[in-house]
This record gives sequence, structure tokens and C-alpha cells, in this order.
Amino acid sequence: MTIAEREIKKFEQSNCAENHVFYQAMEEVIYSIAPLLESDDKYTRYAILERLVVPDRIIKFKVTWLDDTNAIQVNTGFRVQFNNALGPYKGGLRFHPSVNEGILKFLGFEQILKNALTGLPIGGGKGGSDFDPKGKSDFEIMKFCAAFMKELHKYIGPRIDIPAGDIGVGGREIGYLFGEYKRITSSYEGVLTGKPFMFGGSLMRPEATGYGVVYFTEKMLEIEEKDSLDGKICTVSGAGNVALHAIEKLYHIGAIPVSCTDSKGTIYDARGVDLPLLKELKLEKRVSLQEYIKAHPEAEYIPVEAYPEGGHAVWDIQCYAAFPCATQNELTDVDAQNLIVNGVVSVSEGANMPSTPKAINDFLSHKVCFAPAKAANAGGVAVSEFEMSQNASMTRWSFEKVDIKLKETMQQICKRVALTAQDYGVKGNYVDGANIAGFKQVADAMIAEGI
Ligand code: NDP
Repeated sequence: MTIAEREIKKFEQSNCAENHVFYQAMEEVIYSIAPLLESDDKYTRYAILERLVVPDRIIKFKVTWLDDTNAIQVNTGFRVQFNNALGPYKGGLRFHPSVNEGILKFLGFEQILKNALTGLPIGGGKGGSDFDPKGKSDFEIMKFCAAFMKELHKYIGPRIDIPAGDIGVGGREIGYLFGEYKRITSSYEGVLTGKPFMFGGSLMRPEATGYGVVYFTEKMLEIEEKDSLDGKICTVSGAGNVALHAIEKLYHIGAIPVSCTDSKGTIYDARGVDLPLLKELKLEKRVSLQEYIKAHPEAEYIPVEAYPEGGHAVWDIQCYAAFPCATQNELTDVDAQNLIVNGVVSVSEGANMPSTPKAINDFLSHKVCFAPAKAANAGGVAVSEFEMSQNASMTRWSFEKVDIKLKETMQQICKRVALTAQDYGVKGNYVDGANIAGFKQVADAMIAEGI
């Protein structure tokens, strides 16, 4: 039995189905770090894995709020404070009906290693609620956010735990959450990141994750001696914060992003997607992508039902580089095969864990340059940390300064991941490189801090 198999056996899945994605994330890390565990037995002696896979605490609470008809609604809120060996807990809040403890544990666990890879002093956490923002009025969103913060404020603070946005939580929600925190505590402090610029948000925070994944990909293609993205067809999934800003940066560097998706369907516009229209539809009007073809009848709209065999239309479009930026496990082995047959050169994860384990194995075995989420989408949390620095020193950085620092950070992460993979005998494997580099940094801090 290999060291990885032995470790995995210890964490054999509980019969709780909602833990499935958490085990998926954990298993990948355990296989990746086996060479590190074999090279130095201190990680086993100090029981780092056993300690790392259990969150410091999981806070679960009731959120009661009044909808616009004055009916009482009840949701569940969570905050998973996973690990603070490197700095205060840091990670987003997700508002989506699918949210449960298992999803937040998976996201929090990924966040520990991602935050370590940035080289910045931040630990890992995640939170959210099963509240569905879709179809809610602005007042309902405000009332829900206030009710959520009424409980959450007890557990967070600028040196303790600093939440940010994720699916369903953007600048509007962070604004309402921040307002309520301030009203309850009378303290004007950097307790949340992703705030609107007018009250302490960093310029470029909304763009950071999407821009960052493109910066990472450019560097990875350079290291792997592949052609740049200039003039290349790219496919992107999602139509939220990460996807739209990845599309924007792809245009800046001369690439041609031809797709986007939402939970109902895919837009394929061979001339390149109309970004101003997408921003209007998804960020302002918050309507379905189906509206896109009213303005562009020559584009194609493919509803999700059109792909019944476990595949997705967006990954059946020929492209040089693919950017899954919607949600976890959205890119299956069927999709990976379609991309490979169509000659894809790189796949970069903007969303958290969008590719299934089988899909990742297919990419790696076919020598597709594969940028895993915990390295490639770390730009968001990096700029969140820049926001914390600006708040702490009561300063504001220019857009250009943040952009330069973001690009440097993404390039450094990419080089570090590539070098680590090479050092551990898996050159070109950015999954193992990211997991080993992130794990080692957190583990060494945990050992130095004692138990
Ligand atoms: P948004 O809420 O802004 O957008 C999410 C997009 O994904 C929407 O287009 C949504 O479609 C689609 N989507 C959500 N759930 C599903 C689903 N179950 N099936 C199909 N499509 C779905 O979120 P973000 O752009 O902020 O986040 C996207 C991903 O990036 C997530 O995995 C998140 O964890 C990750 N991420 C985000 C960061 C950030 O800075 N925001 C930082 C790092 C990672 P619809 O409009 O129909 O709901």
C-alpha cells in the first residue's frame, strides 16, 4: 500500500453524501503530496494531514428574515474557519441553494492551500448560506444580508476572519453586509473585502480573479514553450464575475473569447462574444443568456438539455485555450475528451475545482497544460489581501498599482508551482506542484507553531 493510499484509508468517506466534494478535493491533495511525505517523515510525525483536514471550527446558524410580502423566511448560514497557521481566516461567502457544510468544507480546504500559494499572510476559510438570491428584490437581498450579519459578526474581525464574495455574493451584497456589521459594532474596519470602492474597497477587486487566471495562463504557456494567447480562440464558461473579467482580459491581450454559459445554457458567438452586452444582461439586468441572441441572432444559444450524455456544449467548441469559470465539477471526462480531440493546448480553472478528477487525469496524460484552480484563480484573494493592507494603512492604491502587483503575484505563483513540480520529479504537472508548494508552506508553519 502506498503512503497516499494509507493516508486516504484513514479518511475513508463518512456516509454523509454532502461530503463528496470535500473528499474529492482532499484525495487529490493526498495523492499529490505523497512524494513530500516520503521525503520527510516530520509531516507524518506531526500528524499534519490529520490536523489539516479538520476545520478549526464550523459555525452554523439560523438566518430569519422578512420577504417583501412580510412572510417570515428561514435559511441556514455557515462559516467554516479552517486553518489560520499563516494568517487570519480568509475566504468568500457563497449564497446559492446548493450550499451545505460539505461544499463549504471543500471550498475552505482549497482556500488554505490557495492562500498559502499567494505568499501573503492569510489563512483559509469559507462560508455562505443556502439562500437563493435569484428572483429576490433588492430589498430582500438587503434584509437577508442584514439578518445573516446579525449572527456572523460575532465570529469575524479584521485580525480574526475576513470574508469576501463568491457565487451569489458581489459588491452589492458585500456592501449590505458591511453596513450591518458597522451598525452592530460601531466599528469602521476592514472586516470584509470586495467592498465597493467608495467605502474602502480596492480598485480591481472585481476584475482580479478573471484577470489573474489569464495572467497565470500567459506565464504557464511561456514556461511550457507554447504559443501565446494572442489571436487564439478561447472558450469560457460562466457569465458571472470571474468569467466576464476573464473574457475582458482575453480581449485586452488579443485573444478571441467565443463563449460563455449560465446555469441554463451556452452562448457561442464565433466572432467573439459581445462583452458590453453580457455585462448588461448578467451584472445589471440579471437575466438569462437566452436574451443575448435577441441582439445577436447570428450567435448560437444551446440549452443545457441539448447535451444529455454528461457533456457540456461549451467544451465541444474548438479552441486553443479553455477557461472553466462557473462552478465545481462542470467539466467532466466526456468534456475533456471533446476538448482534447479538438486540439486544446491549455485549460485554466477560474472556478473552484471545475474539472472532475477523471477530466484532470485526461488532460495530464495528453500533455495539455493544465492550471488548477488553487493556483490559477488566486488573483481574487491576492487583491483581497491588498484591500486589507490598504484598509489597515488607510491608503488607496491606483488601478495601475494593483494591476502590476496582481500580475507579479500570478507570475510568481506560476513559477513557484512549475519549479516545485520539477523539484519533486513531476515536471509540467501544475496540480502536484500547487498542492506540494501550498501544503509545505502551511505544514511548516503548523509545525513551528506547535500543537
Ligand atoms: P457568480 O455568482 O458571479 O457567477 C457564477 C456563474 O456560474 C453564473 O454564470 C452562474 O449561472 C454559473 N453557475 C453557478 N452555479 C452553477 C451551476 N450549479 N451550474 C451551472 N452554472 C452555474 O460567481 P463568481 O463568478 O464569483 O464565481 C464563479 C466561480 O469562481 C466559483 O467556483 C467561485 O467559487 C470561483 N471563484 C470566485 C472568486 C471571485 O473572486 N468571485 C475567487 C476565486 C474563485 P447563473 O447566472 O444562471 O446563476
